Parts: sequence; structure tokens; C-alpha cells
Amino acid sequence: MIFKCKNCGGNIVYDPDRGTMCCPHCESLDSEDKVLSTEYMTTCGNCGAPMEGAISTFTSATKCPNCGTYAVLDERVEGEYQPELILPFKVSKQEAIAFLKDEFKNRIFTPLTFLSKASLNKIEGTYVPFFMYDYDTDTDYYGTGTKVRSWSSGGYRYTETSYYDIRRKMETDFDMVPVDASDYMEDDYMDLLEPYNYKELRGFEDKLMSGFYGEIYNKPEEELEDRAKVKIKGAVDTLINQSISGYSSVKQNSMNVSMSKKKAHYALLPVWEYVYSYHGKDYKFHVNGQTGKVVGRTPVATGQVVAYGATVFAMVSIIGLMIRLALAFV
Ligand SMILES: [Zn+2]
Ligand SMILES: [Zn+2]
Repeated sequence: MIFKCKNCGGNIVYDPDRGTMCCPHCESLDSEDKVLSTEYMTTCGNCGAPMEGAISTFTSATKCPNCGTYAVLDERVEGEYQPELILPFKVSKQEAIAFLKDEFKNRIFTPLTFLSKASLNKIEGTYVPFFMYDYDTDTDYYGTGTKVRSWSSGGYRYTETSYYDIRRKMETDFDMVPVDASDYMEDDYMDLLEPYNYKELRGFEDKLMSGFYGEIYNKPEEELEDRAKVKIKGAVDTLINQSISGYSSVKQNSMNVSMSKKKAHYALLPVWEYVYSYHGKDYKFHVNGQTGKVVGRTPVATGQVVAYGATVFAMVSIIGLMIRLALAFV
């Protein structure tokens, strides 16, 4: 499908600044006509140019390489591929460019062309597929804590060590634990781009994708749930540890975490992508399309992915936003 302006026939896109559909040609708001056609999988609905170069196995939204018209692929936002939720872009293209400029203008490694207008204008927004998992967990923890008391008497120094059984039973519901479902987006990039404010997720509407690229999930949710479980286990560990205090030392004897999945929500999250070519190599930079956080791998650094500017939240604070404690500690 493509979205055409009722007034001028131009390609209408979603405008993150206004938070609504906008025609970039005549500035009309919400004047879109949805033009459906499965042919957009092969040819552009506006100029008729072949689209194969712009569509890969997982593409759900793309741009015509010839005329620049944005198309959403009907069959890839319907049925099993229809997302339940979408987080619309909040950061506009111009803002994303400004965030990149801000981060890199004073860095000595930045090659001159990195921040040139021509390079930066190639930045594109893309909706990355995610699964958001809801899990109930049940944790049984046994440990031994010690308390050490020492004193002097009659020229001797005495130390007394007392041992305590520590038991924790915790039931915790986790809602919307995010795992990206795109092979193209490297996991470490995506984890660094988080967190998003998931409260702003809303029911999916195909028109919100107009103006951006997009992907369907590359793997079914069953194949990705282990990554959610690792995140949840980390959060459970932290919660248990936070509940134990006042001991000189603590030894864990056993911990059993049983997890039962309630639901996996298919969602799309917004990311700006800037691919910078330097000495024959591509370097990818991403800007969180909601918060403006910048993540990338610089041409001269050691190849490690680094998050710039915004604080990298610890795992517990990410999960902490989504946690609902069903039952306190006993
Ligand atoms: Zn128009
Ligand atoms: Zn075209």
C-alpha cells in the first residue's frame, strides 16, 4: 500500500513532529488515501519502477529507489505478520541528525565527511520487530548468612560467627520484556539502544509506517524467548539480593526460578540508522527513534559498540520499569 494525498496526489508520510500524517508537498494534514496493491511487492505504485532492490526477505516497508515513494507491503503487515503494537517515531529526521552531530562534532576520530550534510541526509528511519514477553515467575531461594561479632576480654580477642538460614519465596510478574526479532540489528546494538518508554506503545496502524523502512520478525517468538528468560533471571537475581541485608557474608545454597510464559506481543520500535562508509567499510550508527539516544561503532575505535551521551541503564533499571511485584517476600 502507499498513502496518497487527496489534495495533491503526493506521498503522505507520518510526521513525528506533528504526531500525525502529513503531506510533505502541500502540507495537508490527515489527507491520506490508502492505495492497496500487492503489486508493490514488485513494482513501485507511483512510478512503476522495479522494486526488487528495495525489498528483501523480511522487508515490510520500504522506499522506491527511483522516485522515493514510501510503500508498506500489504501482505507483510497482515495475518500472522500483523503487529499488535507500534511505538511511532517521536524523533524526526532533522532531530536525529542533530543528535548525531551533537555527539560527534568534538570527537577527534570523526572524519570530515562523517558529519557532512550529504552523508547525514542518507539517514533512514526503520521499524525494528520486537517480541515483548509477559512471564510469571516463582522463585525459591535458600542461602546461609553469617554475622560476625568480636570483642576483647582478659587479653584475648574473641570472634563469634553466627549462621542463619535465609529463605526467600517470591512471585513476580514481568510484563513486556523486550527482545528484538531482527537478525540485521545486532543484539548488542539493540540492547544498548534500550530502554524505550513502552507506555507509549499503541495499537498497530499501517499508516504509521509510511515514511519509514520496516521489517517483519525474522524468527518466531518461540525461538527468541530464551533471551527474555536471561533478562528475567538477571532481574530476579537482583531482586533477591536486594532483599537480603545485614549479614557479614551470604552464600547461596539453592535457587529455583520457574517461569511460565503468558504472552508474547509482536511490536515495532523506531530506530534511525546512519550507515557511514569509511575506507571501504560500513559503520552503523543508530539513534533511538523515541529518546534520541545514540549508539554506534566508530571507525578508529577498537570495534566495540559504545553508547554515547545518554546513560546506559543497568539491566535492573530496565526491567524495573516493567516489574509488578505480585507478592512480597516471605
Ligand atoms: Zn498534498
Ligand atoms: Zn517509484
